[in-house]
Amino acid sequence: MKVCTICGANKALDEFDKRPLAKIGYHSACKVCSAIARKERYAKNKARINAVARAKYAANPLQYEPKRAALRQANPERCAAYSQKWRAANPDQVRESHKKIYWSNVEKMSLKAKKYRATNPEKMLAYRIKNAEANKINSANWRVNNRDRANAKRAARRAAKLQATPRWYEKSAVEWLYLDSQTNPAPHHIDHILPLKNKKVCGLHCLANLQILSVFDNLSKGNCFDQDSESIKQLEITRSLTINI
Ligand SMILES: [Zn+2]
Repeated sequence: MKVCTICGANKALDEFDKRPLAKIGYHSACKVCSAIARKERYAKNKARINAVARAKYAANPLQYEPKRAALRQANPERCAAYSQKWRAANPDQVRESHKKIYWSNVEKMSLKAKKYRATNPEKMLAYRIKNAEANKINSANWRVNNRDRANAKRAARRAAKLQATPRWYEKSAVEWLYLDSQTNPAPHHIDHILPLKNKKVCGLHCLANLQILSVFDNLSKGNCFDQDSESIKQLEITRSLTINI
């Protein structure tokens, strides 16, 4: 038994905090009084005590990790509430951090997105319906800003529909042709020399069968082709050469 120097009560030894350096090995004040005194001391010197603790943490953060992890595990709800509050107060930092995570795992992320799209078709459909107007505007803007790619895509789609794209289709060269044609200031179309769809022939969607025509020439040509024209002759030569190889 021992008398507390603060409240004066006579208490059992286990009611006192241990203090190895003290004469009898215990604090002079009981646990209850010590806790109150500690709280008062903290309230009075909060700024200084916090600054010291922060400096100690910054000097060696790893040292505190096990303790932090244990606290997180013991108080999951408190942690979640705190982090939610922090995220709401710092939206820019959250966005930056998401961007960083995305770009450092871009392949993994796009694969994940692809998988999500494949396994949630009904959600994707609902999203498309909900954002139909915005998507329409975005697509139109993309087509305006990427005319060459949009044109190449459209031509490839039309050719694929007609099953006119050969296995060896020179995608990049054809896209380059569309891109290059954009530098031509006169209005023009990229034309299939042998039409993709015609009663007599079925031209291929490939570099050798493409030509740049003025809009007037292309529209007056319509879906026909001139059997004796230079480009058809040229195409014949290319074809016979390819067959001979
Ligand atoms: Zn006491």
